[in-house]
Amino acid sequence: MILTFIGTAGSGKTTLTAKFGQYLEKEGHNVAYINLDTGVKSLPYTPHVDVREMITVEQLMKSGLGPNGAIVKSYDILTPHAKEYANEISKLEEEFDYVLIDTPGQMESFLFHDFGSNLMENLREPLVVYLFDPNILKNLYDYCFVRFFALMIDLRLSATTIPALNKIDIIKNELEYYKKYLDNLEYLSSRLRLDPSTQGYLAYKLCSFLPDVISSVRLLYLSAISGAGFEELETVAYEHYCTCGDLT
Ligand code: GDP
Ligand code: MG
Repeated sequence: MILTFIGTAGSGKTTLTAKFGQYLEKEGHNVAYINLDTGVKSLPYTPHVDVREMITVEQLMKSGLGPNGAIVKSYDILTPHAKEYANEISKLEEEFDYVLIDTPGQMESFLFHDFGSNLMENLREPLVVYLFDPNILKNLYDYCFVRFFALMIDLRLSATTIPALNKIDIIKNELEYYKKYLDNLEYLSSRLRLDPSTQGYLAYKLCSFLPDVISSVRLLYLSAISGAGFEELETVAYEHYCTCGDLT
């Protein structure tokens, strides 16, 4: 089973890769770890595949590029090798129960660069977990946005994508509030309908359409630090591979 963690910088991809991997190992599974981040300095897991063996952001910055230019250049360098990486990962999938893929800190380096799409299209049924942080859920539009964004990732990478709210340990008391809007799209729509602004109308229209396409996709509530939700994540991964994408 291949699980790919995607999310904005700081959403917890690297921490979750390490901690969920440890959890699976304790359960008796063998786990392979893949690092696709050319900019990371140190990792809390030992990678079986590490793109930094080919190129790092640090090396490129030493040759005069700024941080953004160096990130883009690093993936330009990796792109011709995307298929080789996919083959290596696929081989590991045969040997290991789980392959956990930690993606670049900056999500756009993976989503909007050929390296990411070329790699993903050469993997067999990878499951993507889209991590988002409670801090981005400031108003009701944001709840609609994150559910839509998971769908956009699904389309962009042609891979089943599960949205996951990470860092629930920092919102303990408000978790039920977050769940009320994230889990119940009808309720969210009914609240958005009351908003008279243009954005309110847009969010309402988008949100009303969501149940047609994603109502059956489960949302995960995780804490990479405390391990909350790991059992659910394991179940979702298992169901994905045993039912080939049906996560109802
Ligand atoms: P990445 O950029 O997505 O790989 O994010 P990291 O895994 O490097 O995490 C960024 C920061 O968020 C680090 O300081 C982590 O310790 C912290 N972090 C990650 N997951 C959690 C979590 O579940 N709860 C809390 N409280 N902090 C977390
Ligand atoms: Mg990271």
